[in-house]
Amino acid sequence: MLIAGRGGLVIRVFRVKKRFLLLMVIVLMTGFYISRVVAGGIEDRRVSAMSWSVAGRIIAVDPGHGGIDPGSKGNSGVEEEEITLAVSEKLKETLTGAGAVVLMTRESDIDLSDPDGSRLITRKRQDLSRRLALAEKNGADIYLSVHVNCFKSGPREHGAQVFYQPGSEEGKALAESIQAEMIRVLGNTNRKAKAVDYYTTRNSKMPAAIVEVGFISNPKEEKMMLDAEYQRKLAYAMYCGLVKYFAGNATATDNPIDRDGALETFMKNEGQVFDAP
Ligand SMILES: [Zn+2]
Repeated sequence: MLIAGRGGLVIRVFRVKKRFLLLMVIVLMTGFYISRVVAGGIEDRRVSAMSWSVAGRIIAVDPGHGGIDPGSKGNSGVEEEEITLAVSEKLKETLTGAGAVVLMTRESDIDLSDPDGSRLITRKRQDLSRRLALAEKNGADIYLSVHVNCFKSGPREHGAQVFYQPGSEEGKALAESIQAEMIRVLGNTNRKAKAVDYYTTRNSKMPAAIVEVGFISNPKEEKMMLDAEYQRKLAYAMYCGLVKYFAGNATATDNPIDRDGALETFMKNEGQVFDAP
């Protein structure tokens, strides 16, 4: 009797403890979730309060690939150039809404090289340098190239990552600002902004960054990147990064810019031939 009684007491204590622990876990998790939502909401409000920083800026958005070079391909058959264009269009929409002028290097499945039968590498270089030239000619403040990553031998690799030119302080600030917002807004990447020598960032006279929005070689991420809502999230994360980057570099534009003129010139020149820099 005595032993059983003790046993019952032990069990009861254990049950109370278990229930208490469970309750604590639920309270902590709920608290964590609420604090994240609240912090996220506050941060989003901060971004919208700072959105003045992109107003009047000329931002070149480059949807990677297109035309002769579709980029990498996913399991579903989707090509990189489709995803980069869809995300870039959403970024354009968001930035334009905040008063920025967005120069898209392409708005359909095209490239800017001469169809003269040159080797692919020659045409690719021509395409990339003409995209940069287009942005420079129109006085773009920054150059943002949107891409999709691919790592066939590691299908579990995932997460957005931003790249900048080694030695470029402005490129680094821009890339780190966007990377931080990718981490905050998406909540599924802990990658760090990285310095890598790419043709585009090396040859850009403007602060430039390459945003790899995710891995097409990861079937789960490929599916996400095809989702319009997720594309909007990616675009919003980039937008937040740009807002904070410009807010941190809060000097009013020195030269008064003829924004309508710049946009009109760009529209007229779209797809035409420019001298490579
Ligand atoms: Zn690419």
